[in-house]
Amino acid sequence: MKQQQRLNTALCTIFLTVATVSSNMLGQNSRPEAETQPNVVFFLVDDMGWQDTSVPFHTETTDFNKRYRTPNMERLAEQGTLYTNAYASCPVCTPTRVSIMTGQHPARLGITNWTLHAHRDSSAGHDRLRSPAWNTQGLQPDALTLAELLQANGYCTIHAGKAHWGALDTPGADPLNHGFDINIAGHAAGAPGSYYGTDNFSDEVRRGKPQGNSPWPVPGLDAYHGQEVYLTEVLTKESIKAIDDAIAVNKPFFLHLGHYAVHTPIMADPSFIDHYPELSKREAAYASMVEGVDQSLGQLMDALDERGILDNTIIIFTSDNGGLSGRAGASENHNAPLRHGKGFAYEGGVRIPQIISVPGSQSSRTDRVTVSQDLFPTILQMTNTEIPIEAANQMDGHSIVDSLDGKNPDAYRVVGWHYPHQWTQPGPGLQAFTSIRAGNEKLIYFYGDEQFELYDLEDDISEKNNLASAQPHRVEELSQLMRHWMRQTGAKTPINKETNQPLSLPSLHAWSSQQSNSDPMLIEDE
Ligand code: CA
Repeated sequence: MKQQQRLNTALCTIFLTVATVSSNMLGQNSRPEAETQPNVVFFLVDDMGWQDTSVPFHTETTDFNKRYRTPNMERLAEQGTLYTNAYASCPVCTPTRVSIMTGQHPARLGITNWTLHAHRDSSAGHDRLRSPAWNTQGLQPDALTLAELLQANGYCTIHAGKAHWGALDTPGADPLNHGFDINIAGHAAGAPGSYYGTDNFSDEVRRGKPQGNSPWPVPGLDAYHGQEVYLTEVLTKESIKAIDDAIAVNKPFFLHLGHYAVHTPIMADPSFIDHYPELSKREAAYASMVEGVDQSLGQLMDALDERGILDNTIIIFTSDNGGLSGRAGASENHNAPLRHGKGFAYEGGVRIPQIISVPGSQSSRTDRVTVSQDLFPTILQMTNTEIPIEAANQMDGHSIVDSLDGKNPDAYRVVGWHYPHQWTQPGPGLQAFTSIRAGNEKLIYFYGDEQFELYDLEDDISEKNNLASAQPHRVEELSQLMRHWMRQTGAKTPINKETNQPLSLPSLHAWSSQQSNSDPMLIEDE
């Protein structure tokens, strides 16, 4: 690993030179010094649900909060801002991840589903609908990324863990092509072959199969092969080494640590599995993975503290989509009180835990609605990094620096989600959809059923009471907002297999013709 360290240091040094040139290109006269420029730790947990923590994001402490042991998330919440209404840009991985990196909505990028094979739609089948054309290659080097901008502003940019931005065998699969100086274990795949060093982090080794054919083995961790180590702890250890390399060359750092956990395969973390005797084997394994991630957060905070830089480091803790529900059988809702989980239009699919700690911040809690793409301008503002005009023009995210004191200055915000795909086999609530939240109202349109659903999240966070039939005027108004938002972002609707034509934008016309209490006076905007 010493060779790797030297390489990392060399890379940082090289980029020190390049960054000076680049920052001049961005119109900045001086590069902030490492002592004053805050470091950034972006701690992204994969598939972590809103309830997968002992930190209560709901108005009350839930049974799930009592189940999980996450003292370090509690520690971060004690020094940072807790976002109760934080959302992922999409209920699955890649679209959210690329929105963080670009500040753009996945619909604008055309990256609306998870990626793996460059020319294959990863969507499941539907009897009447298929996906619209979308960018199955994922994010490619022509995109201007968060890491590139921070790199140009003098940061040593470190990626560790899951990337999942670009498809296999494309340049976009490699974090080094997205503005990262260092890549530890990131590539095209969105899950690890195994969490165990004794499996070489490979599904092929885990299953005793011939090697070299699977996309899932985690790359770049050969030094740990055969060892009794868990992937989460290895990524933490390597991240801390990379931080030390950045410190050694007196550079501020941007650590983008995307843990593979707590995504499937659900594999027990041996350090913590004994803490959950009351749970089923699978649920205990999941809880141990959550606790492993929590330990990682604590180890990083300790490492920053020991190096005297905790007070000058921004820490952002977040997830990329809702928690996987139904892990131990179809009946249990793992995101309760939220409805359903990963892949779904409902809150369980998109509402995520999020905490942001900045130098000097104190514990606070805000109901400000925020979506993953907001983190792009937020991080750039916090690091005094200029956003080039071409990026600003395409940006869907809003900086949320104004809520770091717990305030909510944008109480009636409109945000949208667009997933014109079938995630897994169709089921209730699991189909292609577009949804918007405006204030506390949420309108969902399901393309397969051609149905709107309307919920008031203030009174009904569990989305049990569909108000669409009772409040057609609200459906009409909000569907106009939805169509406006879709035109703005370029959101494409699913294709009708029979006609080979895209479906119309969600409209009350088509829908109301099926309702007995439709209002003939409703006016369409198209
Ligand atoms: Ca995910």
